Amino acid sequence: KLYNQVQDLKGNIRVYCRVRPFLGGQPSHYSSVGNVEEGSISILTPPKYGKEGKKTFNFNRAFGPSATQAEVFSDMQPLIRSVLDGYNVCIFAYGQTGSGKTHTMSGPNELTDETIGVNYRALGDLFLLSEQRKDTICYDINVQMLEIYNEQVRDLLTTDEIRNSSHNGINVPDANLVPVSSTSDVINLMNLGHKNRAVGSTAMNDRSSRSHSCLTVHVQGRYLTSGSTIRGSMHLVDLAGSERADKSEATGDRLKEAQHINKSLSALGDVIASLASKNAHVPYRNSKLTQLLQDSLGGQAKTLMFVHISPEPEALGETLSTLKFAERVS
Ligand code: ADP
Ligand code: MG
Repeated sequence: KLYNQVQDLKGNIRVYCRVRPFLGGQPSHYSSVGNVEEGSISILTPPKYGKEGKKTFNFNRAFGPSATQAEVFSDMQPLIRSVLDGYNVCIFAYGQTGSGKTHTMSGPNELTDETIGVNYRALGDLFLLSEQRKDTICYDINVQMLEIYNEQVRDLLTTDEIRNSSHNGINVPDANLVPVSSTSDVINLMNLGHKNRAVGSTAMNDRSSRSHSCLTVHVQGRYLTSGSTIRGSMHLVDLAGSERADKSEATGDRLKEAQHINKSLSALGDVIASLASKNAHVPYRNSKLTQLLQDSLGGQAKTLMFVHISPEPEALGETLSTLKFAERVS
């Protein structure tokens, strides 16, 4: 309850953190992540990073390596449900490649009822709630799927690239907007989106870690008695990997990709940090991502920055830089 009050003062910005489990069954004492409490995570730092010991980071909510997809979703559920009450919501998954962003948002390659991620659960929940409200209000739910790669926006529900799109704000007029009313509609669309994402890229995993993907849900509700309408939207964004490019490798196209990613992630950080500190000027214009989401960031809109970290000591440098990003926007 207190969290909500604190967040209201902060313009509705929440920061969550999730630690992925070891993938190779390493013992937990090997981890660079120590205690995970409900609202904090401590990181065990070797001498190389200054004073040896423990550094604790605070969040609105923290999830350890054994947190389930259902637990993670259930904490986000009130935020997601507020879309049906006319709120604009942005949820960002941030972290280095391999830290679990896609796992949280979509799930692993093999999807089951237990392993499906936030995207599917969120839409399923919106369908359920709109069904429960059907005697009072009639909802239309539409989705878009976009990818931002090298500062170009591409519609994932067609195969065309949107060049020099004239959009401003949340609507990309030339991107497909598809009505959905069941989880199987959503699964079919996601499959199309994933297939389209692979087009034009040599290694799909490479491409997906170097581009932002954004699933947008537009909701319009009409009250049966008065006929008045409300609109809400939700952007579920699986961000490009936040890792710094390896200096020796980053040349040509790789360097260009890395520069675009750097630029857009730091532009996003700048926007959220300036919203968090209630600055009058919010620098939305510095990247395609922040331009695209401008109407859904700030004002009455609710933002969840969900950072992801890996437990491996080898990842500590990136882990600390992810946690610094989280501190900055909270
Ligand atoms: P990212 O999208 O950040 O690059 P992924 O979501 O692809 O990372 O995660 C990397 C690997 O770790 C995948 O095989 C994924 O299924 C697995 N993984 C990530 N998070 C978890 C988790 N919480 N529980 C189990 N496996 C996970
Ligand atoms: Mg991913």
